[in-house]
Amino acid sequence: MDAKFPEVVMPKCPAIQLLKGQKAMVTGANSGIGRAVAVALGHAGADVIVNYVVNREEAEEVCEEIRHCGSSAKAILADVADEQQVQDMFREAIDTFATIDILVNNAGIQRDAPFDEMTLDQWRKVIDVNLTGQFLCAREAIREFKRRGVNQEVSCSAGKIICMSSVHELVPWAGHVNYAASKGGVMLMMKSIAQEVAPYRIRVNSIGPGAIRTPINRSAWETKEAYDKLMELVPYKRIGEPEDIARAAVWLASDEADYINGTTLFIDGGMTLYPGFTENG
Ligand code: NAD
Repeated sequence: MDAKFPEVVMPKCPAIQLLKGQKAMVTGANSGIGRAVAVALGHAGADVIVNYVVNREEAEEVCEEIRHCGSSAKAILADVADEQQVQDMFREAIDTFATIDILVNNAGIQRDAPFDEMTLDQWRKVIDVNLTGQFLCAREAIREFKRRGVNQEVSCSAGKIICMSSVHELVPWAGHVNYAASKGGVMLMMKSIAQEVAPYRIRVNSIGPGAIRTPINRSAWETKEAYDKLMELVPYKRIGEPEDIARAAVWLASDEADYINGTTLFIDGGMTLYPGFTENG
């Protein structure tokens, strides 16, 4: 291996249970980033609602991984773009765990097309899941956080929301206009909710992943050619793993991150540093 790009050594997951006693919900938690986040929240001591819309078996596997380290977990089927299903999911979650302290708004999709070939259905589907879905879940979470208020034995905050955004809340993306528009929308939705509910001691932030190895972007890392091309965009010269996002989500949801509100934390190996300027500017 090139000395400039040393072998990757992944850090270990945190041993300290930063989220002991907290109740969390992660949407789209049967796969990729959501799966890693749900497991990491569980390992950090939180009981976790594992939302899924397809693949119940995967969601049950995630629950098993969470239970393995002593936390409770329950898989709940709901399409985050459907108001009734989201409300039913929150009711079931609160019946199960008595409350919710942490929402990770993770579910997301891509439906890519050149702009002049993009159908209204492709546009609507992405906005419905990526933006409206985050709105519907955040609204139910805020209702619960405001109803309950701060329980100091659990956390110094009345509740935390983490929106899974993307570097594409900032970076335009040709051929993915619906996706970039949805994540740009998530950015100002997140900041506006944060501004509105901060006086209730509710924190709302986003994580902006760069290129993370999950099924959503398989074509960008599956072959050596694709991976090498992707690395032109990543100064840190490795693809991100779902656990890179999961460790940060645990910290951002914990009281260690109290006073962080209305911010996007980019976790992207430097993708938002305009790497094209490294040798051309
Ligand atoms: P993924 O495809 O593995 O996971 C997406 C999850 O969302 C799946 O579990 C899927 O079933 C679920 N989902 C889709 N529609 C849903 C719906 N209507 N209701 C409930 N769940 C639904 O991909 P991922 O990479 O893990 O993506 C997770 C999030 O991270 C997405 O919001 C995505 O936009 C974001 N993201 C990913 C990357 C990356 O490089 N992988 C980069 C930036 C942002």
